[in-house]
Amino acid sequence: MSRPEIEAALRILVVEDGAEVGRMLCALLKEAHQPTLATGLEEARVRLHDDSYDVVLVDDRLPEPAGVEFLMEVRDSQPVAIRLLMSARVEPERLLKAINQSHVFAFLEIPISQPLLLSTLGQVAQMRSVMLERDAALLDLQRQRDELEVQVAKRTQQLADQNQHLEHLAMRDPLTGLFNRRYIEQRMEEELLRLQRYGAPLSVLLFDIDNFKAVNDTEGHATGDKVLIAVARALADSVRQVDLVARFGGEEFLLVLPNTGLEAAELTGARLCRQVAAMPGVATDGGGIVRVTISGGVAAARADDRVWAATVERADGALYAAKGAGKNCTRTG
Ligand code: GH3
Ligand code: MG
Ligand code: MG
Repeated sequence: MSRPEIEAALRILVVEDGAEVGRMLCALLKEAHQPTLATGLEEARVRLHDDSYDVVLVDDRLPEPAGVEFLMEVRDSQPVAIRLLMSARVEPERLLKAINQSHVFAFLEIPISQPLLLSTLGQVAQMRSVMLERDAALLDLQRQRDELEVQVAKRTQQLADQNQHLEHLAMRDPLTGLFNRRYIEQRMEEELLRLQRYGAPLSVLLFDIDNFKAVNDTEGHATGDKVLIAVARALADSVRQVDLVARFGGEEFLLVLPNTGLEAAELTGARLCRQVAAMPGVATDGGGIVRVTISGGVAAARADDRVWAATVERADGALYAAKGAGKNCTRTG
């Protein structure tokens, strides 16, 4: 069989209790199709249960249920199978029932005309190939849509990740990973508003590494960077989760402590000072160890601080005083 014939071949179930007629029909159909003969309704039901067919050809002269009624069963069990009815007598009522209730595609009069039967099956084959093409096109469309949906979801996720990354970059200092000055200023403004509206206390600590220029000068900039990172980590690890730690300038760090009054802030400042001084130090390329201290200025925000900078200015003045007092200590502004 050549390929187009295979494609056009229909799986046909012939239901005919007259075995001889049935066999004759099957012999006729075998040329171009794949017929299966069922010589009784029970056998036909088993066949329909086990296999799927493109066409079911039923003799209306079968004992109860007759062909028309049996085709109604077929309509339920194999809705896509095309139903053909054959009968020796053309009775308009039976025909009407066959068309309306069994949705019969064609009626064939017995004795069956071979050209008519083959032409009817040709139509069915054509119809089936159109249906198959349509199904394949639909499937293809569905696949394309699924693929597109996957791509859109992937791209959306990528964009969300990129956005998150950009947001992170926009608020972080690249060297230490602490918040940057722009972000902390914005947060300070928000915290100041909260203070003015709800009276919640708010304090800041401004730290500066002591004699940091000398570290750079004697150990090199790269070691200086390592020291900055180590101090940043010590500060960030030693405060509460709600406290904000930012790199404010070159070797200056600003800590914003929400819900914290001046006394608690002073204690925190002194503790952080001691903690940095007690750090094990940073290894230099030359095999040495660099240890640093920090000085700090403490200030509490006041309700009449119109801008956050006013609070930080007091902390800056206090930091200057701490430097003047010999460094490695804190003062209050
Ligand atoms: P003081 O105790 O009075 O604060 O003295 P200091 O030497 O720490 O202060 P000074 O302002 O003279 O020097 C600060 C130095 O910090 C100078 C600058 O080169 C260095 N610095 C600023 N930003 C960075 C940085 O990102 N990496 C490194 N390695 N050094 C930095
Ligand atoms: Mg400085
Ligand atoms: Mg300094």
